[in-house]
Amino acid sequence: MKTPCPRCKRTLEQCGEVVVEGESFAVFQCDDCIEPMQFGGESFDAAYTFALRPDGTTFDPSADDLTE
Ligand SMILES: [Zn+2]
Repeated sequence: MKTPCPRCKRTLEQCGEVVVEGESFAVFQCDDCIEPMQFGGESFDAAYTFALRPDGTTFDPSADDLTE
């Protein structure tokens, strides 16, 4: 499965899968879009990672709260 990056429009290959409330979503990672992450009180740069819903919208698979 492939999808364009919502930020830079580069075509990305699916790199994984996340299961939320019994539904699985494709996960993509864009190495061109770096964003700061907070982990253990330190901040570092990480590749932009997002999961894709069937309707084409995206969400952050690492977020604590996935409900909207
Ligand atoms: Zn990108």
